[in-house]
Amino acid sequence: MSKEENLECSFCGRKKAETDLLIAGMDAHICDKCIEQAHGIVEEEISEAKSTSLSKDLILKKPKEIKEFLDQYIIGQDETKKAMSVAVYNHYKRLLQSKDKDEVEIEKSNIVLVGETGTGKTLVARTIARMLNVPFAIVDATVLTQAGYVGEDVESILSRLLQAADYNVEKAERGIVFIDEIDKIARKGDNPSITRDVSGEGVQQALLKLLEGAVVNVAPKGGRKHPEQKFIEVNTKDILFIAGGAFSGIEKNISKRLNMQAVGFGASLEEDAIDHNNLLQYITPLDLKSFGLIPEIIGRLPVLSYMNPLDATTLRAILTEPKNSIIKQYTKLFGMDDVEFTIDDEALGYIVSKAVEYKLGARGLRSLCEAIFTDAMFELPSKDDKEFNVTKKYAEAKLTNSTLKKLRAAS
Ligand code: ADP
Repeated sequence: MSKEENLECSFCGRKKAETDLLIAGMDAHICDKCIEQAHGIVEEEISEAKSTSLSKDLILKKPKEIKEFLDQYIIGQDETKKAMSVAVYNHYKRLLQSKDKDEVEIEKSNIVLVGETGTGKTLVARTIARMLNVPFAIVDATVLTQAGYVGEDVESILSRLLQAADYNVEKAERGIVFIDEIDKIARKGDNPSITRDVSGEGVQQALLKLLEGAVVNVAPKGGRKHPEQKFIEVNTKDILFIAGGAFSGIEKNISKRLNMQAVGFGASLEEDAIDHNNLLQYITPLDLKSFGLIPEIIGRLPVLSYMNPLDATTLRAILTEPKNSIIKQYTKLFGMDDVEFTIDDEALGYIVSKAVEYKLGARGLRSLCEAIFTDAMFELPSKDDKEFNVTKKYAEAKLTNSTLKKLRAAS
């Protein structure tokens, strides 16, 4: 036997003749079969390492910690903060569960938030995304249309998320999407539509696909304006969807249902125990259905919570308490010019009373403050004044009737 034929694989011991290829190293040889096997091992290890590093990336906080984080930014709305904390905790636990086939599969806990505009629905969703350090996209349901109609396809939601994730598909696939004004795509009337309902039911049907968890072809730049672009596949299985809407008038449905329950046999709700000032707290999926969401969509948004209307006390707290409250932001802005900014309690009370009187809500607080502080922000940087104290009188002088009317018109 020649010296050549004596060679064998140092890993499996196959003789050169038994292999298709034997590669020589410094003091050893490896055959094609061992290379293939080793390659398989490397692939497996890499993918495992990737998934554990993904898990490490996810900051999994306990529900209580999640709520504590939300408390720093959102005043009140305790029920929603609690429901969200649990839903988000479960959602991310679901992501971390091993992919064993016979394991109990945890379903996604998409969320629907019902509450007047400006009560903090977007803020809650945004704060959650910030805490988890995941990409976050906000979309307005009113611009969505069924495929084939003028408007945006539901897939554009995922284009936004991809953009927010800097086109890192893996990151986008764990992101959070806030769908605003979901109530605007309710079908009109409780009966399944006979005519085609382009803006309502059709969009709900199209949304279903995303909420259910499907692999969707997404045009990275969104829209149909760039027909030449390549599609990116995005799996929505692990994307958390939070839908929000004012559902104005839904109180009527709730009250009707509650009345029926109150007079029915085995009535569980005493009529006088019902808080008629805040009927939203009794909301159930049934009310969403009678409002015009299709049962399939409701089924895919299993966590339902509500936002309380903001009263004067809450509005005042919103002005000063959150970690990045409006007043704290102004203090910082003035501070950057070495101006010490202070505001009297009565002045704060005055701003809140105007927000309530003109029905401007929390969003109006910022516009009111802008109207009051703009002159000072213009003047003070060029002056030597190092103190700026806002009294009620000062605020009143800056907020003339015409400014208030303008603010109301804009809100
Ligand atoms: P919605 O989505 O319900 O219309 P937003 O989340 O956009 O309302 O709220 C508008 C603004 O009002 C927020 O940016 C925030 O500054 C303020 N705001 C509303 N509710 C709260 C709250 N509960 N706590 C703190 N700020 C709030």
